[in-house]
Amino acid sequence: MRSALSTLELVRPRTVAAALAALHDSLANGRLTPLAGGTDLFVYLNAGTLAGRRFLDLTPLAELRGIRAGRDGVRIGALATFREIRTHPMLRRRFPALVAAAAEIGAWQIQSRATIAGNIANASPAGDSLPVLLAHDAVVRVRSVRGERAIEFGKLYRGYRDLDLAADELITGIELPEPPRGAIPFFRKVGTRRAQSISKVVFCGLATIGRGGALEHVRLAFGSVAPVPVRALHAEQALTGRAPGAAAAAAARAALAQDIAPIDDIRSDREYRMIVAGNLIDQFLRAAR
Ligand SMILES: Cc1cc2nc3c(=O)[nH]c(=O)nc-3n(C[C@H](O)[C@H](O)[C@H](O)COP(=O)(O)OP(=O)(O)OC[C@H]3O[C@@H](n4cnc5c(N)ncnc54)[C@H](O)[C@@H]3O)c2cc1C
Repeated sequence: MRSALSTLELVRPRTVAAALAALHDSLANGRLTPLAGGTDLFVYLNAGTLAGRRFLDLTPLAELRGIRAGRDGVRIGALATFREIRTHPMLRRRFPALVAAAAEIGAWQIQSRATIAGNIANASPAGDSLPVLLAHDAVVRVRSVRGERAIEFGKLYRGYRDLDLAADELITGIELPEPPRGAIPFFRKVGTRRAQSISKVVFCGLATIGRGGALEHVRLAFGSVAPVPVRALHAEQALTGRAPGAAAAAAARAALAQDIAPIDDIRSDREYRMIVAGNLIDQFLRAAR
């Protein structure tokens, strides 16, 4: 059943400190749900599947905005929208796979509201930015009244839609270390149609090619093929130290069965997802060549 709007409450703090205090206090008296762009929450609200009635509006919190470049990487504020990411000149130059993912999240209207922290906290295994963050060794900064924590992106998800985030913690930003010099980034989303679909398989690859022509620093990260975004560690190992040719692609494809366990669901089936995942590694290697 749809939710009646008149029964909903919106709390609008002016500072992150006030937001964290309100979130903490709400554990005892009617839990607040953080609200960013609302592009996931409004869908749940409309469907009547959202338990919460009280919302913490993050949008006035300037401290959670902004994209800042450092010498060692970049810090992206929790409230950065995919439109901001997609159009950011420095990100386009240094993190093109993230920009490519941002450009394929919904349409322009969704990209103008949807935030990167919302994509992370919504914790869908089909979230399109998540394999990119995984492949780039991202670190998620979270804060509560108890202080700040840094969580390696690869350790953030404990299981299906279950992330290591306490009910009174907010994501404040995401840090992406500068990839190794010469790293080759690759992003590809495969859905039912070319645009505006939920991913059947989403992939980010990253690697460098050493002096002898062999692959190094190999990252193969997938979404929609397991309960959480995953790195294909066996396939990465199969590629490391080899030239990015057909033999390497075949070895990686064979190893992939140990890394991912796609399921049959309404969007696709296991067999299709396995084949597509292997094809995406092929495409990545071809791009690397
Ligand atoms: C038409 C449509 C198309 C879409 N297409 C895509 C797509 O192609 N690819 C894709 O990946 N997604 C897609 N989405 C899903 C959605 O747009 C993204 O997941 C988006 O990034 C969510 O961000 P938001 O700011 O809107 O989050 P919200 O809806 O505001 O929040 C989502 C969740 O994150 C929590 N949250 C938000 N910010 C924080 C924070 N700072 N700290 C802690 N928790 C927080 C909220 O409490 C909530 O649980 C689509 C949605 C729609 C409606």
